[in-house]
Amino acid sequence: MSYAAILLAAISLGLPAFASPTLKTPKAAATSKEMEFDSTRAYRYLNEQCAFGPRNTGTDAHAQAIRYFTTHFKSLGIPLQTQEFVHTDMQSGAPVPLTNLIATVKGKDAKRAPILFCAHWDSRPRADQESNAALRDRPILGANDGASGVAVLLELANLLSRKPPAQTVFLVLFDGEDYGREGNIDEYFLGARYFAEHLPVKEFDYALLLDMIGDTDLHLPIEQNSAARNPALVKSIWDRATALGLSAFTKTPGPSVLDDHMPLLAKGIRAVDIIDFDYPAWHTLGDTPDKCSAYSLGMTGRLVASLAYRSLP
Ligand SMILES: [Zn+2]
Repeated sequence: MSYAAILLAAISLGLPAFASPTLKTPKAAATSKEMEFDSTRAYRYLNEQCAFGPRNTGTDAHAQAIRYFTTHFKSLGIPLQTQEFVHTDMQSGAPVPLTNLIATVKGKDAKRAPILFCAHWDSRPRADQESNAALRDRPILGANDGASGVAVLLELANLLSRKPPAQTVFLVLFDGEDYGREGNIDEYFLGARYFAEHLPVKEFDYALLLDMIGDTDLHLPIEQNSAARNPALVKSIWDRATALGLSAFTKTPGPSVLDDHMPLLAKGIRAVDIIDFDYPAWHTLGDTPDKCSAYSLGMTGRLVASLAYRSLP
């Protein structure tokens, strides 16, 4: 997500939490289906994405990743649409071809609007947080910032292909989240902006964005733009995580983050960002798979599986 987030994080600290930090006793034991989320396989998907190399636009790895995602969904028999579009670089004027991937799994309840689970799949073209200035124009691997959220959604697709969800689920992979240069927020979230302007359905029940959720030292406080716009939804989601015993989720205020949920919120979609912004390797060449773990991927993995099979009230 963007650099502006750090600045906003500092001013968010005075905001109150939306709910009591007291943890409830986990009730409602998770169903067997929810427990089937395979964290080890999700971590393999994280590694496979990183094995292509940095997946910023214009690279072979970018094209390979699109083929890899396409093969994954198609092999599961899940319908896939793509949104291909061209952004014009604001500095150089060069064309920047980008691709969103939209997989859809029909749910049992056709009356309820679909859930949108999303993550960005691109990785940042420049390691601008490197302490060594000579390294700052190199592309990052994006194990956590890019591959982690996607890995969870690829594994969720396995579950959904075996047993249909309660309501229809869209699994959307956004391109161009991390394209922008520091200081120019208009060049971030390119895929999410395009998607918000070209929605495949009229209405979503809500959107859940997964970003930077693979950190071995995972902490998931409440992102403040999400809480400010949809406090009841945020409470329901963190309550579900607590009921599932997902210890990374804490009902404490996190930073205000500018991320792919912002264009969705602007379109009136109830969007929530699950993100651990406390990640020392953020936007550096050190954002590699060894900083991430299967265990951490399982935290959001088990949550999204639960939400898919048991709709929120
Ligand atoms: Zn980023």
